[in-house]
Formats: sequence, C-alpha cells, structure tokens
Amino acid sequence: MTDSKLRNTCESTNMDFLNNLTIKKFHEGLASKQFSAFEITKAFFDYIKKNDSQINAYLRLTKDLALSQANKIDVELAEGKDLKILAGAPLAIKDNILIEGEPATAASKILENYRASYDATVIKKLKEAGAIFLGKTNMDEFAMGSSTENSAFKITRNPIDLERVPGGSSGGSAAAVSADMALAALGSDTGGSIRQPAGFCGVIGLKPTYGAISRYGLIAMASSLDQVGPITKTVEDAAILFKEISGRDELDATSVNFQYNDDELLNPKLENIRKLRIGIPKEYFIEGLDKNVSEAIEETIKLLKSLKIEFKEISLPHTKYALSCYYIIMPAEVSANLARFDGIRYSRATSEKRKATTLKEIYFKTRGEGFGEEVKRRIILGTFVLSAGYYDAYYSKAQKVRKLIKEDFDRAFKEVDVILTPVSPTSAFKIGEKTDDPLQMYLSDIFTIPVNLAGLPAISIPTTNNQRLTTKDGRKLPVGFQLIGKPFREADVLGIGQYYEKLQAV
Ligand code: GLN
Repeated sequence: MTDSKLRNTCESTNMDFLNNLTIKKFHEGLASKQFSAFEITKAFFDYIKKNDSQINAYLRLTKDLALSQANKIDVELAEGKDLKILAGAPLAIKDNILIEGEPATAASKILENYRASYDATVIKKLKEAGAIFLGKTNMDEFAMGSSTENSAFKITRNPIDLERVPGGSSGGSAAAVSADMALAALGSDTGGSIRQPAGFCGVIGLKPTYGAISRYGLIAMASSLDQVGPITKTVEDAAILFKEISGRDELDATSVNFQYNDDELLNPKLENIRKLRIGIPKEYFIEGLDKNVSEAIEETIKLLKSLKIEFKEISLPHTKYALSCYYIIMPAEVSANLARFDGIRYSRATSEKRKATTLKEIYFKTRGEGFGEEVKRRIILGTFVLSAGYYDAYYSKAQKVRKLIKEDFDRAFKEVDVILTPVSPTSAFKIGEKTDDPLQMYLSDIFTIPVNLAGLPAISIPTTNNQRLTTKDGRKLPVGFQLIGKPFREADVLGIGQYYEKLQAV
C-alpha cells in the first residue's frame, strides 16, 4: 500500500485500521505486503500527533529510531528474509526501561538529563525480534503510584474518559495501547502497575512470575518485587510478547532458566483448559468493592463456567496483611535502590549544582529538589523501617508475613490451578480524587499486591469486550478481572484468557 493510500484508508475509516490492529494482524498484513513497516509506523506517529495532546500517554517519541528500525525491516522483507512475529511491530516503552542512547527519566526530575548507555535485556531481545519503539511512556515517578499523577512531567488521562486517571504506575503504556497509539507496550509491575492500569483502560496486562523476565536495565523500584511485562489489546498478543522477552539472563541473577512450552503459551488446547480448576478467594470479595466490579466479576465467572471450567471457593487468610507488609518491604528496598541517585551519577551536574560547596548542599540541590513528594515519603519510610532500633519490629516481621502470604497461595494451589479475583476494588477514579490521601491511593492495589509478594504470574483482562468506550453517553467504564497462576504457569492464565476472549467474540 502506498503512503497516500494508507492515509486514505485510515482517514476514511476514522482510523478503524489502527483501532483493530493487533500484533497478530499486523504481522499477517506485513507478511502479505498489505502495507510496509514504514507506512504503519508513520501512521502511528500521525495518529499520536493528533490524539496524544489530549491523553499525554507519551513523555517522548523516538521517531528517528523508529523510522530507521522500520526501514530496516522493509529492506529485510524485500530481500525475502524470514519475518519474525514481532518484526516491524510498533511498541510503546515505559520510561523506566532503558533504550541505549535515549533519555530514560522514570518520570523523575532527578533523571531529567540522563541518557541510557545500554539496552535493557528486554529491549535487546525486542530489537533482535525486529520490534519498533515509538516512544517512552509516562508513569508515576519511579513507578510509585496508582494513577500516573505522580509523574514529575505531566498527567496522563484515561482515553475512555478524559476526566479519569488511566491507573498507574504504567498509566502511559496502558493509555497508549487503549487509545491505539501503539500496537502494544511494556510496563513494569511491583505491586500492580501493569494490571491495574490495564484494568482501568480496558486492555490486557500480564505480570509474569518473578524471575521469568530479566530486570537488567529496568530502573529498580523494589528489586524483590519488580517484573517487566506486556500490555496489549489481546491475550494472544500478551502471550506473543511474553514469549519473546522471557528467559534466563546472566545479567540478572534472579532470572530463571525455565523452559516454557511455546505451543502451550500460544495455542492452548480447550481440553487442557477445561481440566483447570479455578479458585475464588473469599477474602477478595469484601466491603468497599464497588457494585459494578462485583457484578462484572459475577458475569465473568458465569461465562467461564460455560466453558465447563470447575470453580471452588478457597481461602487466603493472610490477605488482610498484604498491604501493610508491602508498604514496609517495598519502601525498604526503594530507600536502598534510590540511594544511587546521589546527584553526581546518572544526572548531569547543572551549573546550579556545581555551585554547591559541601556534599550536604549537593544532596539538597539534587535529591531535595529532584525527587517528588511520594518518592521522598517512601525513602524516609524505608530508611525508618530499616533503622537499627526498628528493623526487627518492622522489616524482619514483614518478611515473616510475606512468607505466610506465600504459603497461603501454596496451600490454595494444592486445591486449584488458577485463582480469579477483581483487579481493583473500583474502576478508574477521577483525576485529583485521591491525590491528597495516599492511603486511599494505596488501597487501589489491595488485590494486586499479594501476587508480587508471592512472586506469582497474574493477568488482568477486561470483563467484557465492549467496555472500551466513552462514558459520555452513559456506557460503563472497564472493569478488569485477574487470573493468578502457579509459579511459571503463565500458560494457564494466558490459556484461560485466550478462551475467554473467544467467548466474548461470539
Ligand atoms: N501502586 C503501587 C505502588 O504505588 C504499585 C506500583 C508498581 O507496581 N510499580 O507502590
């Protein structure tokens, strides 16, 4: 297709073309020469230009990089080279993941002038697979938040209702995919940052098993909890991306050499899916759960039952301690990880800073001015729980509670294969609604945090297909459901998810 023909197609169908494009469809179109990688990449940039001024999903576009990557794929295609599944696929990348030569700020002023000197392992793998990077997406500063309002640079809006938050911290990535400004995206998840924004924006988000994906080149928040993962329009696309970016990496000692069965991930068989038992934990259906959420979950359970999957009520008795446990372990790790931003490394010394005469002055001018309120709150909290007099009372106790939470899941997984819960207690809230009340903000991750503490894989899927719509005319906001799997059993949650999508398509 020529450039102008493509533009006509896009304009005449009101961009239906990009709206319906998934990784799978894009690959088929590229392989059958319906369009070139360059044309689609350009169409994405045009679309972003037109729409992102309202949504603010991107912090920066990487146009030069993307167009040269696209050209390279088109040349390879013309030479008759084998086209890999992700070749030419335009993706959005959360700004805490390093792309060599590009700025990476993690939405913090302290990294305003930082440029990555190497590729994160996930980026290296995606480059080898031929993927294209459209730009870096907005997020809560250092991934600390649930609404993307903690970004030092701008507030991202939920594409479904511009008065609402897209969730966080990977809000920019989820909004970009939901608004068709990228084919798919990468996010990171420490306590829910992939799943919650995916739920709020009506897209798919996968938090892989701890150790499934290398964290090398991910700007660390809390290293025992962080994982990179895909945000996509379909579960199948999440499986495709997961397969490409997972695997053991010498550069991340916590990554695991687990051999996934690709066929099981990408082409799950219904007869195997039917053998899976799903547990419903009673502790997740609590007061404070919005009615629209509980109703949507009920409907989902009904739909899944029509696949003849068996359900069972289970108990995860230590759930109520998860949030407090997380808000001790996470800040402790944050305080250690963020110590490296000492105003000397990672950021250019501004002339202002050079005037500082003592180390303390440097810290005030850099850490004092460069970190936002939420980041400072967590550094202080973390330093406190690790301090000599309080270590046993807080940090080491929280580690014991973490073990109890993990054991709850171990016990439950003797009875069931997968656990189904809501992603969040509410759907997307209004911008500004929770910014003055950190505790209320923290509560929006109550159902996602236990999964990180236990290191398990979990996916967020919209409860129905037709909810990626505006609320202006009274239609519903998206509600996500979460499927939690056994360690390294991404295939189970992706498999059920893929069949759930097929049910919705009927
Ligand atoms: N919203 C949670 C927090 O603020 C989780 C963040 C994340 O997963 N990065 O800590």
